[in-house]
Amino acid sequence: MEREKGGGIAELRERIREVTLRILELMAEREKLVREVAALKSGSGEGIVNPEVERELRKAVVSRAAELGLDVETVMRVLTLLLRRSTEIQAKGQGPQGMTHMDLMRLAKRMEREGREVVHMEVGEPTLGAPEHIAAQLTDAALKGYAFYGEAHGLPELRSAIAEDLNERFGVDVKPEQVVVTQGGRFGIYLAMAATLSIGDEALVIDPSWPHYKQVISMLGCRAVVHSTSLEGRWLPDPAKLEDLTSDSTRLMVLNYPNNPTGAVVGRQLLQELVEVARRRNLYVISDEVYMDYSFGEHVTALSAGYERVIMIMSFSKSWGMTGYRIAYAVAPVEVAERMAKLQGSLLTCVPEFVQVAALKALSDRETPRAYRDHMLRGIEVICRYLDAIGAEYVRPGGGMYVFPRIPLGGRDPMEFALDLLRKRGVAVAPGTVFGDYREFFRLSVGDSLEKLERGMAALAEEINSLRNPRG
Ligand code: PMP
Repeated sequence: MEREKGGGIAELRERIREVTLRILELMAEREKLVREVAALKSGSGEGIVNPEVERELRKAVVSRAAELGLDVETVMRVLTLLLRRSTEIQAKGQGPQGMTHMDLMRLAKRMEREGREVVHMEVGEPTLGAPEHIAAQLTDAALKGYAFYGEAHGLPELRSAIAEDLNERFGVDVKPEQVVVTQGGRFGIYLAMAATLSIGDEALVIDPSWPHYKQVISMLGCRAVVHSTSLEGRWLPDPAKLEDLTSDSTRLMVLNYPNNPTGAVVGRQLLQELVEVARRRNLYVISDEVYMDYSFGEHVTALSAGYERVIMIMSFSKSWGMTGYRIAYAVAPVEVAERMAKLQGSLLTCVPEFVQVAALKALSDRETPRAYRDHMLRGIEVICRYLDAIGAEYVRPGGGMYVFPRIPLGGRDPMEFALDLLRKRGVAVAPGTVFGDYREFFRLSVGDSLEKLERGMAALAEEINSLRNPRG
């Protein structure tokens, strides 16, 4: 009896093994077909993702899963992973995805250490840095005892001050329990995504986009579904097209206005329409508003759209030049805020309290964000003047600290061009390919001093002109 049972299990295990290996053969067959589709599509101008085709496939999969008595949710997660793989296969060969503007920044900083002067138009950093009265808080607070383990959510007095500040400025109703102080906006976005996504979920991203969003979505075993905007469309998203990209696996939508890299801003009406898509489809909205203080008109926060599933991200990096302090915050529904704090607590205990005291000081300083915004506006004027001179197309930013012009290079690889410009002329810029499928574009950041921007743009203009007239 015992022996028979053992033999029976061993045989069943063997069959499970065979079935599992057979699934791999089917996966290989599927990938081969996807490659054939990619080959047929190449050069046809047809996009990688076809929402209509995916909808049909999803419907078929759900009904077959039900027929077979499978758990539909699990099957949908597996389907997302298969679709993610199809996208990866088709995206291969669509431009250099490997290097990003952060690698360019690393190279630029290395050149500086070797004694060369570099114009930084590759990263979004106000090079003036944090004002002295904020920096002075660091030692003062550490000496006063703000240098022990603290709460993962953040200092209670800072969370209250943040809620009060938002309520006062935007007429919203944020409670301190909704606020989580995070170690930078980058980490805050990771926490927000990790708290709301599970493996096999989908998230909507509007391109061109800051690469971090897609990186984290992918890191969490999920799939970014991309809505591409264009210069012709003034870089504004189309709510109907965005809705068309949603499926039963979609969990969240990422918004970022004022936008990095385009400088686009959305007015109250368009923002409301985007939020309504999320409401109809029951999605979280991660609204990255780290450039709110660099709005050249009135900033509209997604917190004011009357939707309870908004997670707003704001950072001290841009408004007060505190990039190296690594401090930001999220405002989220309480249960999401709790999940984020718990995760932050287990990963890094807390944000250093003396940094939080400096951030508290920064909140009461409205002068610095205004001065920095004026700097960005003047920098944008400098850049646009040169772009006009070389006849590059662009949309004038409504906020933020970047211009995203179309500068065709006549077939030259944009990352190679950027590396050359940095090594030869000491000018760092970010190619459009970092932000999506934008080979003809460059992102020019205006955080550096106006004199250096002038010099950088003059060098860029010379390089472009010599590309156009190779003989000089
Ligand atoms: N969001 C956007 C759109 C950004 O451009 C940046 C920084 N480049 C951040 C968030 C994060 O900034 P930090 O991590 O310094 O708060």
